[in-house]
Amino acid sequence: MANVLWMHGGACNGNTQSFLNAEEPTAVDLVTDFGIRLLYHHSLSMEFGNQVHQMLDSILAGAIPLDIFVFEGTVIRGPNGTGHYDMFLDRPKKDWVWELAHMAQYVVAIGDCACWGGIPATKPNPSESVGLQYLKGEKGGFLGADFRSKAGLPVINIPGCPAHPDWVTQILVAVATGRAEDVMLDELQRPQTFFKTFTQTGCTRVQYFEWKEPVEEFGQGTRKGCLFYEQGCRGPLTHSPCNRILWNRQSSKTRAGMPCVGCTEPQFPFFDLAPGTVFKTQKVLGAIPKEVPQGTDPLSYSVHAAVARAAAPKWAKEDMFVP
Ligand code: SF4
Ligand code: SF4
Repeated sequence: MANVLWMHGGACNGNTQSFLNAEEPTAVDLVTDFGIRLLYHHSLSMEFGNQVHQMLDSILAGAIPLDIFVFEGTVIRGPNGTGHYDMFLDRPKKDWVWELAHMAQYVVAIGDCACWGGIPATKPNPSESVGLQYLKGEKGGFLGADFRSKAGLPVINIPGCPAHPDWVTQILVAVATGRAEDVMLDELQRPQTFFKTFTQTGCTRVQYFEWKEPVEEFGQGTRKGCLFYEQGCRGPLTHSPCNRILWNRQSSKTRAGMPCVGCTEPQFPFFDLAPGTVFKTQKVLGAIPKEVPQGTDPLSYSVHAAVARAAAPKWAKEDMFVP
């Protein structure tokens, strides 16, 4: 049996909504089949007020073991570092987070806000929001760069805006069943099994990416073409399995004609880096995408693109639908 406590800070609750849509395994499976005991969840639990206070006090006193501390949303430190913008049970929530994280065997950050600060931490960041162990791409965050949970791991980051539900349930099952050491983390503390590949992997438009055939207009649905050249798709720049583990087991944004906006990366929503990037590809010299796929340089990419476009076969330009 693994005790799980799930709290949320500065958040829209989207990761909880996403979590409830999990299918492999479902949220209920966690309890019935995988030995997870949910001590408290801000939206799902019946307990409130003094009942929660007593339970948290028991955890901090060591009377109730805390196996997994899940946090959704930012840690709000404002105003002026007091945390008074986000109070919980008569204390700044940030103080609860600090103490609970240090009592937990494992700490799991769900969604961009908990991982990196997300949208609330975007400048000017009036709530002084921060992620658990990062602020955007900078390591440290609320708990500090050297933080390790009792089991010796840093915060396990499962980013996304929101995170895909199956990423969440599969990692919780792995940790709860004693396989946390198998969860290999990348340099941003994300499980490699989900975040080693690019969003583009598995996209049904990838042949049009190769032949540099763009979708000309926003909202062409499944009509032919790649969303990278005109619509600002960040599929070749973003690490996620959105085209391997489909959303609702049905589709993905890019399959449905919606550009990837890079929501699993620390700099999301990219307002600091490139204003206007969303849904519009920024160009150099009017033709070359300003941001080229990772692993290429702009010059060799532009040469390759020109050759590929000239050599594109007839079918790549035909007006047809792709599944
Ligand atoms: S639509 Fe996006 S993810 Fe799909 S092939 Fe084009 S750039 Fe890659
Ligand atoms: S396709 Fe891109 S923006 Fe959409 S959920 Fe996946 S990583 Fe996020």
